[in-house]
Amino acid sequence: MNEIKSQFPILQRQVNGKKLVYLDNAASSQKPKRVLDAIENYYKNFNANVHRGIHTISQEATDLMENSRKAVQQFINAKHDYEIIFTKGTTDAINLVAFGIEPIIKKGDEIIVSQLEHHSNIVPWQMLAERTGAKIIMLPFDENCELKISELQNLLNEKTKLLAVNHISNALGVVNPIKEIIEICHKNNTLVLVDGAQAIPHKKIDVQELDADFYCFSGHKMYAPTGVGILYGKEKHLNQMRPYQGGGEMIKEVSFSGTTYAELPFKFEAGTPNIEANIVLHEAIKFISDIGFNAIQTSEKIILNELTMQLSALPEIIIYAKNAKERAGAVSFNLNINGIHASDVGMILDKQGIAVRTGHHCCQPIMQQLNINGTVRASFGIYNDLEDITSLISGLKMAIMMLK
Ligand code: PMP
Repeated sequence: MNEIKSQFPILQRQVNGKKLVYLDNAASSQKPKRVLDAIENYYKNFNANVHRGIHTISQEATDLMENSRKAVQQFINAKHDYEIIFTKGTTDAINLVAFGIEPIIKKGDEIIVSQLEHHSNIVPWQMLAERTGAKIIMLPFDENCELKISELQNLLNEKTKLLAVNHISNALGVVNPIKEIIEICHKNNTLVLVDGAQAIPHKKIDVQELDADFYCFSGHKMYAPTGVGILYGKEKHLNQMRPYQGGGEMIKEVSFSGTTYAELPFKFEAGTPNIEANIVLHEAIKFISDIGFNAIQTSEKIILNELTMQLSALPEIIIYAKNAKERAGAVSFNLNINGIHASDVGMILDKQGIAVRTGHHCCQPIMQQLNINGTVRASFGIYNDLEDITSLISGLKMAIMMLK
């Protein structure tokens, strides 16, 4: 067992009598012992509500949470810590923006959404369009499953208020040229929201270098607990937006004649937050940073290339997005055998202790375009190694034998 794997208690367990091979990291990653210890440490020593109490442990919990916010700021190189909003996850962060910018969206305005999006970066925009009379325009992908950037220029016009796009596609592992997209959109005064849910554990993110207006991600995909996510937004945009939810903590002053709102970031953080997860996110950031993105990218590239090569050698397998210029984190494929669904393959793999995701991966528009119901997706984390790829390939050979 590799040294990093040995830090993840769950990876020591067996599934169906076999050693667990966890290749479903795009759905959720496992947690290292130091993150699990940080959860326990919080409840044993610091459990109190934040920003409220004059007492010591409330102040300590508040400091830990605000330090975590600062750690996120550094991790993605945001200019200010108050541009970091704690949310429940990526979905929550995108909904916050889709609600918050509503006052600047008029009937007839346009919002461009890429065809490669997860449902959580499509539906909130459709709901905003329903409320305002704005139009959703799709930025399509080509035969290599890459966004047609050459068409973007034609789609943009004076009515285009925002473009929503992911950094890495969760369904196909395609890496989108975010910097170029942002540059093109900014020339047209169009805001860009980047769904970074899949990029955050794989790539060093620098929101200032990208010049992203909004960048969203979830803790649970980066070795932190479930229930914490981040919305990064440029100060000027966040200040213009209306609050998403009303309640405690997000106010300056409340009276029955009216309410004034708190400054950033608290204007967007109504109610008691997920204090534990918000604090423990800091430990996950330290864990990733200790390993470093150079090492992460080198190892994940080897794994992705090896899997692609070995899958390509099996004539029964179709790989999607194989010719895309850059892929990271996941490989999506199917068995080209009549009447066989991705879920049949997933069940056979599960019997061998191999966890993959099958289905549409919350990306039905991608599946519609590819004319398929779903795919088998193997997605990688910091602990995966070539042994896992060997196990997956022998599992797939078994599936091919059984299903043919
Ligand atoms: N966007 C992408 C690209 C994702 O992969 C996911 C999670 N599968 C989400 C958004 C939604 O994230 P969450 O469920 O953590 O809100």
